Amino acid sequence: MNKIRKIILISTTLFLLSTIFLIIVFFTVDDYNLLIRNISPILKYSIAESYDKPIRKIDVLEYDLTLDIFQKEKFISEVAKIKILSLDRTAGVIELDFYDNFKIISVKINDETVSYIYDNNKIEIFKNNISIDTNIVEIAFEGTPQNLGLGSFSMDDKNGVQFLSTLNEPVFASTWFPCNDSPHDKAKLKISVTNDSSMVTISNGKLQYIKSEKNRRTYMWATDYPIATYLISIYSAPYKEFSQKYYSKNDSMNINYYVMEENLENAKLDFSSHPKYLRVLTELFGEYPFLDEKYGVAEILWKQGAMESQTITSIGGNFISGMKFNESILIHELAHHWWGNSVTPKTWKDIWLNEGFATYSEALYFEAVNGKKALISTMYSFARKLDHGNDETLYNPGVDIFSSNVYNKGAWVLHMLRKEIGDSLFFVSIDTYYNMYQYGNANSEDLKSVFEKVSDKNLDKFFEQWVYKGTGFLKLEIDWKENIISENNVELKIKIEQKQNGYENYHFPVDITILDSLGMISNYSPYITSDTTLIFNLKNRVEDVTLDKDNWLLAIIGNY
Ligand SMILES: [Zn+2]
Repeated sequence: MNKIRKIILISTTLFLLSTIFLIIVFFTVDDYNLLIRNISPILKYSIAESYDKPIRKIDVLEYDLTLDIFQKEKFISEVAKIKILSLDRTAGVIELDFYDNFKIISVKINDETVSYIYDNNKIEIFKNNISIDTNIVEIAFEGTPQNLGLGSFSMDDKNGVQFLSTLNEPVFASTWFPCNDSPHDKAKLKISVTNDSSMVTISNGKLQYIKSEKNRRTYMWATDYPIATYLISIYSAPYKEFSQKYYSKNDSMNINYYVMEENLENAKLDFSSHPKYLRVLTELFGEYPFLDEKYGVAEILWKQGAMESQTITSIGGNFISGMKFNESILIHELAHHWWGNSVTPKTWKDIWLNEGFATYSEALYFEAVNGKKALISTMYSFARKLDHGNDETLYNPGVDIFSSNVYNKGAWVLHMLRKEIGDSLFFVSIDTYYNMYQYGNANSEDLKSVFEKVSDKNLDKFFEQWVYKGTGFLKLEIDWKENIISENNVELKIKIEQKQNGYENYHFPVDITILDSLGMISNYSPYITSDTTLIFNLKNRVEDVTLDKDNWLLAIIGNY
């Protein structure tokens, strides 16, 4: 056997992996990737439209939302008080995103009634010559929120049991409250929700109080950490609660779980490793960013995956098995608290920073816990999920912001960046990038510039081929021949050619492993910049040549 296809090699490796790894590979369903297929036209339209919106000259400092929910009637009555800093004091109007199906009761600025135009899924509020730069805009309204996108405001029931859940990502927070619905404008949040007294209501941050009156119950939640509108959420259902404690070096925090009674015992098993996930991710990325408040997981009816709402991840009840089949989803959503929730993308064009980091965090977690083979195996499982027909770039992937490529190629690009600059510089770069942008926003250029500074390496080509311009991935054809010149002098020629569509000529390091007839192994790592024939002078005859044995390159490698 002279020439081995990479696929066969990796499959063989997989057979040798421990049962644990096999379980991970086989039972890790495509989770969040499932939702990709069914993006409705309205979601696509709204995302595409949001790309081209000019950035408003305002900075929302705080949302203070009070909701009265009438679940059976599918009706809400709400007051949104929004503290807004005007970056252009001379502007006579404050504009916010707000789906225009509600009945407006009143609109005020600093307690003074003002005029407004409510149309085109926006509200324009006239400032009446108020010239101070920080104002409280108060909008009272009622009606039935539209349930758009992936379930922006879902009031549903399962076997007669009422469920309310929200999932705003990317631009649907404005289906249930007026806001500057863009990931760059993060604010503080206070949220008070009143529902039927049988309902337990959860939201972001810390529970301030619970108040009951007749058959109604109010939950008041608040967060002091900045939160993007797409991460603001409420979940309301007759939940059963249980909790765990997480101890960090100097502090502790509650992890709270909210599930339906039928899933309680299974959820206790499935969710039990969260303190371990927190410990491992903390070792990788620094302390959990919302330690002063909480982490939580809430079951929802949505069957397509999970969502990393800040401090309260939601997950479809169908993913709760009692057998820990979906650990990777739980790790992914928790990892988003560093990557997405703390460091938030500036625009949706940078969505790969969210999903690439959270997906790669799964691999880093399994590597930290189970070793290098787990990393190799997890990266292989990501490569397997790639959509070969996708011709979008990673940056600005058009309307397909939840495509398999955004997740899996995103993870792979970080993995290859690690190979490009080496392990230690990679982790220093991650650390530097996180510390620079925590609780704020970053884009692809911010990431690039930190990695360039730390590694002292120009990464223009790397980002051009993998992030900005190239689509798909590498396809390499290799061929090798040995030429016996004399005893103890064998010339080995390895021809490497790039055959992919989507980007003509990638530059990349590649590991080459040569096995000789005496069973000796030699390793080389040339940096490839064009189609090439590499020449090696060896002492013994060649038994086998393998490219990329440790799975560092997003490539299909075949022989002629
Ligand atoms: Zn994700």
